Amino acid sequence: MRVGIVGAGMVGSSAGYALALMGLASSVVLVDQNHDLAVAQAQDIAHAVPFMSSTIVEASDYDGLVGAKIVILAAGVSQKPGETRLALLERNAAVFKDVVGKVLSVAPDAILLIASNPVDIMTQITQRISGLPAGRVIGSGTILDTARFRSLLGRHLGISPQSVHAYVLGEHGDSEVLAWSNAKVGSLSLAEIAAQVGAPITQDVRALVDDGVRNAAYKIIKGKGATYYGIGAGLARIVKAIARDQRDVLTVSCVTDEVGEVRDVALSIPRVIGADGICADLMPDLNDDEHAGLVKSARLLKGSVESIAL
Ligand code: ADP
Repeated sequence: MRVGIVGAGMVGSSAGYALALMGLASSVVLVDQNHDLAVAQAQDIAHAVPFMSSTIVEASDYDGLVGAKIVILAAGVSQKPGETRLALLERNAAVFKDVVGKVLSVAPDAILLIASNPVDIMTQITQRISGLPAGRVIGSGTILDTARFRSLLGRHLGISPQSVHAYVLGEHGDSEVLAWSNAKVGSLSLAEIAAQVGAPITQDVRALVDDGVRNAAYKIIKGKGATYYGIGAGLARIVKAIARDQRDVLTVSCVTDEVGEVRDVALSIPRVIGADGICADLMPDLNDDEHAGLVKSARLLKGSVESIAL
């Protein structure tokens, strides 16, 4: 199976590295408008491969994406000094108009996996530009926020994050909602497991976990300028669900018919992912506050999308 990656910067190359080490694809093809960068990243990743797998990693122009089953879109421009968020969004929308057309002209059957930020808006724009069914345009959304939530809860309880079932919903950003009320560990509610292992979820613990999830990216950016290993692994995890038709439940972004009274908006809820992309949405049971938070997040995102001239 071939996986293409357009945008060989930090996020795209980290996804390529994770994919290559996991041996998930027979071939990973990197494309970037800066071809020298794509070549250098591909070679660097290719040199790691003999230790772990047999994936072929190459740089190419768009022709190299022929036959790709999945194309990760990680291209983008960064904010210029003094540039508004909306102006930046419009420039990134223009990049995607160019990129999505070129990708689909050579790989019309590909599933598009969006990594560029703001990811929910870029996902909705990509769906609009491409005209593809919503389930074939998947944004990385809150996959990483959900992983952070599970990791912090797991550490507090002394239990593997893989046995924690808890979700971060809505926007990948400030308005995201941590769904505490339906978090489970094994088959137990959070309150039950906390009592059994003697690690109560106090208000302080909740506040620490909430801060750890919500502000992780800000803290990493302050320390090293950008985040990329986490999202690179998250993208590889989504590719695994598709490549092996695993029907995994992951929180990813996708244009959703209705969230509360908001129609046609891309955001994250748990969704089932298999060979054809998203095959089902699983709207979780939420308490009133969480539901209101999710609808607020949806309204915010919809407002941003509508303000962009395409
Ligand atoms: P991030 O940290 O999000 O990965 P980077 O700036 O490191 O951000 O990477 C973004 C990449 O997207 C850059 O390598 C840039 O050359 C690439 N890029 C920008 N515009 C285009 C485009 N129109 N086509 C292909 N690649 C692009």
